[in-house]
Amino acid sequence: MSLLIVGSIALDTLKTPHGDVNDAIGGSTVYAAYAAAHFTKTSIVGVVGGDFPKRELGELEKRGVDTKGVETVSGGQTFRWGGKYFDDMNRRETLFTELGVFAEFSPKIPESYKKIQTVFLANIDPDLQLDVLSQVGKPRLVVCDTMNLWIDIKRQSLQKLLKKIDALLLNDEEALMLSEEKSLVEAANKLRKGGIERVIVKKGEHGSIMFGPEGVFALPALPLSKVKDPTGAGDSFAGGMVGYLASHPMNPANWRRALAVGTATASFCVEDFSIRKVRKATREEVLERARQLRDLTQIPKF
Ligand code: AMP
Repeated sequence: MSLLIVGSIALDTLKTPHGDVNDAIGGSTVYAAYAAAHFTKTSIVGVVGGDFPKRELGELEKRGVDTKGVETVSGGQTFRWGGKYFDDMNRRETLFTELGVFAEFSPKIPESYKKIQTVFLANIDPDLQLDVLSQVGKPRLVVCDTMNLWIDIKRQSLQKLLKKIDALLLNDEEALMLSEEKSLVEAANKLRKGGIERVIVKKGEHGSIMFGPEGVFALPALPLSKVKDPTGAGDSFAGGMVGYLASHPMNPANWRRALAVGTATASFCVEDFSIRKVRKATREEVLERARQLRDLTQIPKF
């Protein structure tokens, strides 16, 4: 089984209470691909400018990620995002978004990717996500991520997209914003009534909740003593989760396991800046943390 990821490839400038980095490798696709590649053959589609360090695509290839779907526009600038975290690192502010080569990007899915059965539409403009779906056949699973920016400025496209996906990932604030409801349960119910089978709500350091046909499943995040940079936590959570699902049968038990794998992957991501730690973590280390999570949540019978 294999996985196709389409999303942003970025150079991030970040400031957190623990330091800052300039033009660090980031983007939803990159985080998700490092996370997923432990579990399945992963292919990515995206665009970079001539300023993107070529060796970084080589690093992804070394991990087994197929990067032939990444277009390089030699005279263009890579997508750049700037963010600042507050002392409470659950809160962040976008300082700038420079689309660069993304402004003209039109994803071209290589022929050999078109039969991939699991598709992760990582966070990008929903019009591009729709374009990707129009080029692939009928995958067994389409998972989509989004963010407040697109809910704000591209709500119609997003509504159209939501009719074509199986699972939606978003954070708690975005779930309320998108559904125009006041509680997460109502938000998830409304989104599921609209046709999405599963809604997975990320709650940062407080974990995640999955609303699905078999009911609700909630998981805490791993308690960590050192969080340096939360950037990419959502993307690496998603990458671990879809990577696991791409290589396992889709049933309620594997969805739960997939959430644990995503949570474990994200826990590595936030322990260092940019992709440093998510790239270094091994499959076994990720699974070990997923097992810790299992132990952490055992409640003896009443
Ligand atoms: P996360 O912390 O999981 O929400 O994801 C952070 C990543 O999303 C960063 O590496 C950014 O480069 C990327 N990003 C930020 N804004 C956007 C956007 N508007 N479209 C696509 N990717 C973005």
